[in-house]
Amino acid sequence: MNDISALRHNRLAINEERLWSRHMEMARIGAIAGDGNRRLAMSAEDGEARALLAGWCEEAGLSMQVDRAGNMFAARAGRSGTRAPIASGSHLDTQPHGGRFDGISGVLAALEVMETLNDNEIVTDAPLALVNWTNEEGVRYSPGLLGSAWYAGLFGDDDLAGLRSIDGVLFDDEARARGWLGAPGGKFAMSAFLELHIEQGPILENEGHQVGIVTSVQGLSWLDVKVHGTDAHAGTTPLAMREDALLACAKMLVELNRIGLACGEAARVSVGRLTSATDGPSTVVGEAAFVIDIRHPDPATLDSLKQQCSEACREIAEGARCRIEVAERIFVPPTDFSPECLAALEDSALARGLRHRRITSGALHDAANVAKVVPTAMVFVPCRDGISHNVREYASPQDLAAGTNVLLDAMVALAGH
Ligand SMILES: [Zn+2]
Repeated sequence: MNDISALRHNRLAINEERLWSRHMEMARIGAIAGDGNRRLAMSAEDGEARALLAGWCEEAGLSMQVDRAGNMFAARAGRSGTRAPIASGSHLDTQPHGGRFDGISGVLAALEVMETLNDNEIVTDAPLALVNWTNEEGVRYSPGLLGSAWYAGLFGDDDLAGLRSIDGVLFDDEARARGWLGAPGGKFAMSAFLELHIEQGPILENEGHQVGIVTSVQGLSWLDVKVHGTDAHAGTTPLAMREDALLACAKMLVELNRIGLACGEAARVSVGRLTSATDGPSTVVGEAAFVIDIRHPDPATLDSLKQQCSEACREIAEGARCRIEVAERIFVPPTDFSPECLAALEDSALARGLRHRRITSGALHDAANVAKVVPTAMVFVPCRDGISHNVREYASPQDLAAGTNVLLDAMVALAGH
């Protein structure tokens, strides 16, 4: 209402100190050695974190709703009686040895935007909303990105009803016990979704950027490779006569790495699990298997990488006189974010004179699910040495503030005032 001109001249700014102190207060819940956090989804610690957030939302005058998947939505009224909220948020749950910023920063940034608007008595046209998505990390409950997957219709009510934690507890029972199981049915309407998140990689920091405008989340394919040779005696079988599955795998790993490197900077080709059925020091390995994790932001290139990887493995298997099976276990297509949401974020970074660049997300995020049903984009904040999913994870108060100011401008621009 007042101070719209201040907003135009970018004098409106979030409260960096309050944002940082909220991070530190949240980090007390489930604190572990080395400045880390352990708050697994729907655990007692998650319940405590949710209650703390809900208290802050109430103090900020927001009205809280919870849905069937335990997702939290805290709305701030707008002038319009008909428009759906511009929403922002991320997740409060962490990895078992997680940090203080992954997910948390996105939730607290959304809260800080609301409080800054409260401080300045600004009412937007569309309402605004803060979101905490349930079980992003997928540690106790599988799959990860659970709350946003349910929201986007990728995970149904029946799936949710049968869902158990790795320790055998029904999701519904636990969510109810913590007080965060909403009624079945309706999904919280939103007209746009923005997620602030730490980068979890080294690019922004290395290049001296304060903010990353995330254009897409890269696609992912997992190829299961099984190589069949013949078990043989390591002392009596001449080298030239062997059908050595493990040796074939070793050659494949080297070739897969070459294919990834040849594809350019954006490509990721990795093998993180290699198993040998034999595991005897004096036996030539007859059976071995591994999983190729392939990622790329461009659908056509991702497809071509898949082809190249499986062809290379087949050729090497043939040369090693082994039989091979290649099957795709998981495929997640790349997600492009909304041009309108990206423009709102980028305009703010430009207007505020922040060092920024466009960037692709290497990790999956709730925003990639939400993007299937609502115009969506993300903003990244640098994190020290690119370290994440680690107790040493760190983002500076200044960088968090810069990203949150960009979020503030973009939410107000999308909501109108
Ligand atoms: Zn996260």
